[in-house]
Amino acid sequence: MPTETFEFQVEARQLLQLMIHSVYSNKDVFLRELVSNASDALDKLRLAALRDDGLDVDTSDLHIEIETDPEARTLTVRDNGIGMSYEEVGQLIGTIAHSGTAQFLKELQEAKDAAGAEGLIGQFGVGFYSGFMVADEMTLVTRRAGEDRGTRWSSRGEGTYTLETVDDAPQGTSVTLHLKPADPENQLHDYTSPWKIREIVKRYSDFITWPVRMTPEKQGEGEETPEPETLNSMKALWARSRDEVSDEEYHELYKHVGHDWRPPLETVRLQAEGTFEYQALLFLPEHALHDLFTQGYRRGLQLYVKRVLIMDDCEALLPPYLRFVKGVVDAQDLSLNVSREILQQDRHIRMIQRRLTKKVLSTVKDLKAKDAERYATFWREFGAVVKEGLLGDPENRDAILAVATFASTHAEDEPTTLQQYVERMRDGQDDIYYMTGESRESIENSPHMEAFRAKGVEVLLLTDPVDEVWVDAVGEFEGKRLRSVAKGEVDLDAQGDDAAGEEREKQGEEFAGLLGWMKEQLGDEVKDVRLSSRLTVSPACVVSDAHDLTPALESMYRAMGQEVPQTKRILELNPDHLLVKGLNQAYKEREDRSGLVDTAELLHGLAVLAEGGRPKEPGKFVRLVAERLERAL
Ligand code: ADP
Repeated sequence: MPTETFEFQVEARQLLQLMIHSVYSNKDVFLRELVSNASDALDKLRLAALRDDGLDVDTSDLHIEIETDPEARTLTVRDNGIGMSYEEVGQLIGTIAHSGTAQFLKELQEAKDAAGAEGLIGQFGVGFYSGFMVADEMTLVTRRAGEDRGTRWSSRGEGTYTLETVDDAPQGTSVTLHLKPADPENQLHDYTSPWKIREIVKRYSDFITWPVRMTPEKQGEGEETPEPETLNSMKALWARSRDEVSDEEYHELYKHVGHDWRPPLETVRLQAEGTFEYQALLFLPEHALHDLFTQGYRRGLQLYVKRVLIMDDCEALLPPYLRFVKGVVDAQDLSLNVSREILQQDRHIRMIQRRLTKKVLSTVKDLKAKDAERYATFWREFGAVVKEGLLGDPENRDAILAVATFASTHAEDEPTTLQQYVERMRDGQDDIYYMTGESRESIENSPHMEAFRAKGVEVLLLTDPVDEVWVDAVGEFEGKRLRSVAKGEVDLDAQGDDAAGEEREKQGEEFAGLLGWMKEQLGDEVKDVRLSSRLTVSPACVVSDAHDLTPALESMYRAMGQEVPQTKRILELNPDHLLVKGLNQAYKEREDRSGLVDTAELLHGLAVLAEGGRPKEPGKFVRLVAERLERAL
C-alpha cells in the first residue's frame, strides 16, 4: 500500500497548533506522556495474553526503551506492548477522543493569558501530541500484537499526517521525535542528553511498573556497546512504606492513572492486613471532568493482583457516586483472570468497596474539619455527585449528610450543614425548610420565600438536579422533617401562636365563598384554591401538595422518557393583598360575577409566571394584562 496523506480533524489541528506554540511552560513532561502510553500498552498486552491463550506473543521481557541520538537530534521511546493496527493509528492518533475538546478549545481561546491556558491544558492532557512541544516532526512505527504487518505514522504537526504499511516492524510501538534545537531559556532542554533523560524519568515515571531502559552511547570506535541501564525503581508506591514516598511521587502516579495533568486535591492510603490483604491508593481530583454526568464516563480504579494490573477501570471497587475517585487497589488473593461479572459478585471485592467508601467519606470529613478552602473546592466540584449516594447508599447516608453542605439564606457565601441549620433553628420551628430551583437567584425571588424572608426563617437553597430527589428519599434529619417551602401547607405564624391561629380561622370564613368560586372557574387548572400564609408581597402563588411531584421532577422524568401524569397544583392567595381583598369584596357584592372571571385567571397566570412557569394560554394572558393596563391609564 502506498503512503497515504490524511488531514487532522479540525480540533486535533487546533490542539497541535497549541502544542507547537506551546503555552505549557514545563516541556519535560512530554516524556512522561510517552512513557505513560508505553506503560499502558505493556499492561494491555499482558492482560490480552492472560485472557487469550491463542495470542501468539512473547511477553518474557516487556519493557520500555529510550534511545537518543545527538547527531541526528532524535529521541525514541520504544515499547514491546500491544501496538496498534492501521485503523487504530488513524483513530487514536489522528483524532482526539475527548468529547469535550471543542468546549476546551473555546475556553482556551477565551483564557488568553498563559497561566489560564496552562491550567486548561493541564485539565485535558494531550498525551501523545505533547511531543510536538519539543519536536518538529514525530514518527510512530507500530505493530499490533497478533498481526503481521505494521504501520508507520508521521507528521510535522501542521495539518496532515501520513500513514503507510510496513512489513518489518517489531511488535509494539516506537515513537521517534525529531527534536527542535535546544532553547534552555524557554525550558526546551537538550533531550538527547542521557542525564537529562535520567532525571526526567526518575522524576515523573519512577513508579512505572515496567523497566524503562536506556542504552548509553558508545564512547568510541571499537568499544563494546554498554549494558542498558534501568532508569526507574519500578517500585509500586502503594507497596512502599509511607515515609518513603514523597508527595510529588504520589502526584505523578495520580497523573498517570487519572489522566490528569494537575496534582490531586487529596491522596488517600489504605492498607488492609489479615486474611484478605490489599493496599489501596486513592486520589480525589481537584477538578471534575466535563463528562462526569454522562453515560460514557469511565469510572473505576485500577485493580492489581500482586503488582500485576488485571483490570483498568474496575467499577466494582467503588459505588457510582464516588466515580470521580481515581487510584489503584492491589489485592493479594484474587485470581489473575477474573472477569468483570465475577468481580461484581465477589465477596472480597464488596468488602473492599465498603471499606474504601468509608475511607473516602472520612477523608472528606477530615478535609472539612481541617481545611475549609480545599473542602469547598471539593464540594463545589463533586458535591452534586456525592449527593447521589443519599439515594443509592442508605448505609452511608449519615456519613454523607455529615459532609454535605448547602447554600442557605443564612449567609450569602457560606454553605451550611444540616447540623448547623438545626442548631440555628428558632424556638417553635419543627422543620428544616428548603426550596429547589435552578439558581440561588431564581429561588430567592420566588414568592414562596416571602414569608420566610419576612419572618427570618432560614431556607436551604438547593440547585442541583439531584436535590429534587434526595430530599424526598431522606425525609428527615435528627427528627426534623425536610420540608419544601413550595409544597404543602406552611403556616409560620400559627406555629405555637393561638392568636394567629384564630386570625387565620376568621380569614378563612371571610374568603370561603371566593375560594370555592375560583376553584370552579379555574376548573382543571388547579387542584385547590386556598389562602396562603407564605406570601407577604405577591398576591398569589402556586404550590404542590406535600406528596406530589414538583414541576422540575415532572419534567426530569419526562426527559428520561417516563410517562407521568400532569400534576395539578394548588393556587394560594394572599389575603392581605389589595388585589385579593378587592376581588373578595367584588365577589360578595355582585350578583353577576362573570366580570370577575378574567381577574381570577389573571391571578392564576401571575402565580404561575412568578415561579418561572408558563400560563396555559400565554396569548390570552397577555391580552388580559394589556386590557387592564389600558384601563388604568
Ligand atoms: P491518552 O493516552 O490520554 O488516551 P494519547 O493521545 O496519549 O491520549 O493516546 C491516544 C491513544 O493512542 C491511547 O489511548 C492509546 O490507545 C494509543 N496509544 C498511544 N501510544 C501508544 C503506544 N505506545 N502503544 C499503543 N497504543 C498507544
